Formats: sequence, C-alpha cells, structure tokens
Amino acid sequence: MYAIILGAPGAGKGTQADILSQEMNLPHIASGDLFRQALEARTEVGLLAKSHMDKGELVPDEVAIKIILERINQPDCASDCLLDGFPRTLHQAEVLDQALEERGKSIDRAIYIEVPNEVLVKRLSGRLLCRTCQAAYHIVNSPPKIPGRCDKCGGELYRRSDDKEETVKERLNVFFAQTLPMLDYYKKQGKLIKVNGNQEIQKVTEEILSALRAPISS
Ligand code: ADP
Ligand code: AMP
Repeated sequence: MYAIILGAPGAGKGTQADILSQEMNLPHIASGDLFRQALEARTEVGLLAKSHMDKGELVPDEVAIKIILERINQPDCASDCLLDGFPRTLHQAEVLDQALEERGKSIDRAIYIEVPNEVLVKRLSGRLLCRTCQAAYHIVNSPPKIPGRCDKCGGELYRRSDDKEETVKERLNVFFAQTLPMLDYYKKQGKLIKVNGNQEIQKVTEEILSALRAPISS
C-alpha cells in the first residue's frame, strides 16, 4: 500500500505514521525529517531547506520532490510506504502520481487528520521530539517517563526551532493557503479519508485503521 498522511502542523501526522508503520509494517517517510537529516549532515539541500523552514515557508517544490523521489526509489519502498508531510502542494501531488505511475503503482489512500486550530497551537507549543528516532512527545499530554529522554530509545529530546509562536502562525497560514486546497485532488479520486484528530492518540489510530479497511469509494 502507498498511503499519505495529511494535516496541518501539529495534527499528529508523525505520531500516527509512526504507529501505523509498525502496525502495518510500512516504511514511514517524512519529508520534514529528511530535510532535518540533510541539515544535520550540512548538505547544500539541508542548508537551503533551513532558510525556508526557519521562516515557516515551504521548501521549493523541486527540492522537496527530489528528496522524496530519491527516498522512495530505495528498495524498502518498492511496494509500500507511508508518506508523512509530502505532498504539500498540488504540483507535488501530480509529480508523485507520475513517478508512481512509471513504476506501475499509485497512491491507495490519502488520510487527512483534522484538528481545530487552537488545539494545533497548544500541541506545537509543547512538542518534544527525539533527536535519534524522531518519536514525538508533549510536555503535558504525553510526557516522557524520564524528563529529556526518549522512552523508546533513550535519545535526547529537543524542541523544534520552528515550533516557536511566530513561525507556527506562518506554518498554519501556509497550510491553509497551499496544502488544504490539494485535498480536493485526492477527494476527486475517491481516495480521501478524513479522520477526527482531536481525540486520544489511540482513538485516532483506530479510526484510521478502520477507514483503511473500508473499500475505496469510486
Ligand atoms: P505533526 O507530525 O502533524 O506535525 P506530531 O505527530 O509531531 O504532529 O504531533 C504534534 C504534537 O501533538 C506532539 O507533541 C504529539 O505528542 C501531540 N499529539 C499528537 N497526536 C495527539 C493527540 N491525538 N492528542 C493529543 N496530543 C497529540
Ligand atoms: P514537518 O516536519 O512536516 O512539520 O515539516 C517542517 C518543514 O519542512 C515545513 O515547514 C517546510 O518548510 C518543510 N517541508 C516539509 N515537507 C515539505 C514539502 N512536502 N514541501 C515543502 N516543504 C516541506
């Protein structure tokens, strides 16, 4: 299965993709993680991406497309993958479809996790991430057992620099202006699944899994 997880920043895409990739044995590919890894390695792409990420803007389409296509061309994505944070524009969605079509594949489902704005802001203001395995925590909702350490791998937890208030505001604006309109593309293909992301993590997962089991509406 090729599935994508869509939603505003803080909707729970990474959290759900992490759980689903284990439950369904799919590789979890997150475009934001690829950019952060590129930045850590001080590559040209990483430094270019940072200049946009810091302002809450999208990285240019061609750069995002290149990094994702290179990743999904790896053998572990030959027949399945769960994309998190990509595509974010209609152009990215169209190029992804062309690339998959050339391999005789297509996107099976697009899962949209819907969460009210005020909840998104609260989630991002308390988000902690593991530097090693990227697991997400929240200082109030889901704190780690040992402060500052990941429950899963013991890695160091950190706050993303783009989770500060001004940048979050811009990231939300960008989502509504550039990404939300793209949902129509998947809706028209009968592939869009909308789930209520404003409930417990486990409930969101259950809703996604039951929607994935239902047949595609044509
Ligand atoms: P995204 O990948 O969409 O930006 P994350 O998965 O990183 O979002 O989640 C953002 C924050 O919200 C994290 O701190 C995470 O622990 C928390 N979170 C995720 N899903 C839920 C949920 N259903 N209820 C409460 N908090 C959540
Ligand atoms: P995320 O980790 O998904 O919240 O993404 C962090 C940042 O990386 C975003 O605010 C964008 O600047 C950039 N980014 C991630 N994915 C994409 C994408 N598909 N297209 C453009 N920019 C992206």
